[in-house]
Amino acid sequence: MMRVLIFVFAFAAAIPPLAAASEPCPGNAQALGTERVIAVDATTTPRIGRKQFPTTLPLYAKELVLTFDDGPWPGTTPKVLDALKAECVHATFFLLGRYAAAHPQIARRALAEGHSIGHHSYSHPLLDRMPLAKAEAEIDRGIAADELAIYGKQRTTPTTPFFRFPGFASNRALLDRVSDRGLVVFGADVWASDWVTMTAEQELHLILARIEKVGRGIVLFHDTKSQTAHMLPAFLRELKHRGYRIVHVIAAGSHQASQ
Ligand SMILES: [Zn+2]
Repeated sequence: MMRVLIFVFAFAAAIPPLAAASEPCPGNAQALGTERVIAVDATTTPRIGRKQFPTTLPLYAKELVLTFDDGPWPGTTPKVLDALKAECVHATFFLLGRYAAAHPQIARRALAEGHSIGHHSYSHPLLDRMPLAKAEAEIDRGIAADELAIYGKQRTTPTTPFFRFPGFASNRALLDRVSDRGLVVFGADVWASDWVTMTAEQELHLILARIEKVGRGIVLFHDTKSQTAHMLPAFLRELKHRGYRIVHVIAAGSHQASQ
């Protein structure tokens, strides 16, 4: 009997938890943590984020998905990764191919620390202002550069099929093409306007006020902005204090989804 019980406990211990929330956060007993993981694909959620589209992720009240665009960038992205790691929070990074090619070690660090890696074109042009074929080539170039930097394979079918249009500039033809390829298009529900120069403290107050207004959703930051990197530790602590919970979005069918 005892042998059977020992076997059962040993087996149970080998099964990874469904959500990271039950895992302690090393060195931070009061960590915000990652409450749960949701897996998405282009069939069920082709376009998400109410700033651009009619629908968003199926989130409960006070649930937030954190996203960071335009990196990886030395000096700021490592600080963002440090802040997320300290709170055991998992986010999604939308990379620029030209920066992933220049700083592959930072991109690989984001992946290694459990974040989702999406794509954001090669060099951030407004894709709706060029011929469709040229826009698609720019998307492919970005994905190929990201994949090469992170996984060592230059392919245009991304490991994680998440895409965000630079400047949210898309049109019907582009959206159709991207959906045909099975990419989930991320918009946003709320943003920090961190492309506008302001102090870290001003940005903290602005994004918290906007989050209180929408109550849930996809939050957009730029990990290339020093004001964002600086305010992130205080922002995450304040989310915990106010009872918000973090949801990590992963690709359906990915290695992470199988856990
Ligand atoms: Zn961008």
